[in-house]
Amino acid sequence: MEKMIVAIDGPAGAGKSSVTRLLADRLGFQFLDTGAMYRSVTLVAIEQEIDLLDETALQKIATEIEIVFDGEEVLINGNNSTTAIREPNVTRSVACVAKAPSVRSYLVDLQRRIASQGDFVCEGRDQGTVAFPDSFCKIFLTASPKARAQRRVAQLSLSGQPVELEVVIRDQKLRDQQDSTRKVGRLMKAKDAIEVPTDDLSLVQVVAALEGIVRQRIENKRESSTVNGQ
Ligand code: C5P
Repeated sequence: MEKMIVAIDGPAGAGKSSVTRLLADRLGFQFLDTGAMYRSVTLVAIEQEIDLLDETALQKIATEIEIVFDGEEVLINGNNSTTAIREPNVTRSVACVAKAPSVRSYLVDLQRRIASQGDFVCEGRDQGTVAFPDSFCKIFLTASPKARAQRRVAQLSLSGQPVELEVVIRDQKLRDQQDSTRKVGRLMKAKDAIEVPTDDLSLVQVVAALEGIVRQRIENKRESSTVNGQ
């Protein structure tokens, strides 16, 4: 049976991470947080004091490190790096690493290999456009810059890292701009993606809306394979 991929893309802070996990749970799918991969390469590059503009060195890191997802946890070369990859220094530098074409090409390939193992909800910036252009269900999650920043402030404050709203808005704007203007894998809505604005919706409502969309697509897929005698 062909594996199913739900591709979820959108800007920083649109809620992709929480939505993806809950949606995957509801559907009985696995989830893949592709941002964690770019963050892992960035963390190791910072630790090794690599010039973040040195693409050859970044590519070497990407291909040599072992990134393992264990539920919510991310292990890099066996070390639990779940918190470290979300530290502000990594967040500030990750867009620079993510614009390196050879790093992207290696990680996209890795994403495809992982997702070939089962049914997945994959989230990132280029899942519907580059990694899984044939995915049967693509979602583009959005929210206003202010709503996204407010969510991020709340998240950071919960994890004991209080930060000013203005600072988050400024960093977010810069990251969005870097993510939307790079040459490869830029943040954009796939032509056949469904845009879901989340400003006025709670997390539970977003997950319910997405579950409805995905289940409808699964139903359509079943019907068309019955008609085609597959
Ligand atoms: O989703 P998250 O905020 O963890 O992603 C961190 C960064 O990784 C993004 O700002 C983007 O630069 C990069 N990224 C990417 N392509 C993806 C996922 C994330 O370029 N598929």
